[in-house]
Amino acid sequence: MSPSREKPSLALFDLTGKTALITGAAGGIGAVLARGLAGAGARIVLNGRRREKLEALAGELENDGFAAGILVFDVTDHEATRSAIDAYEAETGPIDILVNNAGIQIRGPLEDYDPADFERIMATNVTGVFNAAQACARHMIDRRAGKIVNIASVQTALARKGIAPYTATKGAVGNLTKGMATDWAQYGIQANAIAPGYFDTPLNKALVEDDAFSAWLAARTPAGRWGRLEELVGAAVFLASDASSFVNGHVLYVDGAMTVSL
Ligand code: NDP
Repeated sequence: MSPSREKPSLALFDLTGKTALITGAAGGIGAVLARGLAGAGARIVLNGRRREKLEALAGELENDGFAAGILVFDVTDHEATRSAIDAYEAETGPIDILVNNAGIQIRGPLEDYDPADFERIMATNVTGVFNAAQACARHMIDRRAGKIVNIASVQTALARKGIAPYTATKGAVGNLTKGMATDWAQYGIQANAIAPGYFDTPLNKALVEDDAFSAWLAARTPAGRWGRLEELVGAAVFLASDASSFVNGHVLYVDGAMTVSL
């Protein structure tokens, strides 16, 4: 689609008529991306494990004039994820955009790390991305169209002391994104990742409360500060929209230049 007087360039970013499923949307980055995609015109489907929290958020979006629904499932449960997405597709309509945002952090020195915690972080951050992406992609493949946006991290590229398992999961998200693009580009699907720097969410509570960490972060990040959650919205709208129709398998860092500098 070339820009013209009838079809201005901004229309490339318009998500009107599209439905976006955001996993882990009960708070933090997921909730902000849900509102951001709604603002670009998408109907929103909020996923998480806590029904009451999701219903409250969907109510807030609807009060503000946006279309929103909920889909309760645990992304680590392959069958539950598949059946919830299949049921939504059959009963309500297509999921055009999937944002794989659900993720957890379990910190600890690698030499003492509990194997059960390693399994748990892999199950949420990696298997969960696979589960939701595969379930949605089967329908997207039939339609020969779809957008998948995986939430990676600066830990896709860089390690940091005390979070080696998380780093492993986010490295996997980056490469799984490349694999999705490689397997599914032929079906008109674009799969990309957003790699956020450091943002103030419940996942980072321990870091936000640590003044020494904030001082280190400000010195280490060329932008000199934490990210603001709304600063992730532009990347999400771009990767969810026609504006990125030939962008595939890309990891887009939104990190104030942290990963390009020492
Ligand atoms: P939060 O802890 O605020 O939110 C994570 C959300 O994931 C929660 O709403 C939680 O909801 C949901 N969730 C967790 N496990 C599951 C599950 N098994 N099934 C469904 N939903 C689940 O974290 P953030 O908003 O900070 O993180 C969101 C994503 O961004 C994660 O992938 C994280 O790794 C990534 N990220 C975050 C950064 C940051 O600075 N905050 C930086 C880089 C990446 P509930 O428990 O109700 O189910």
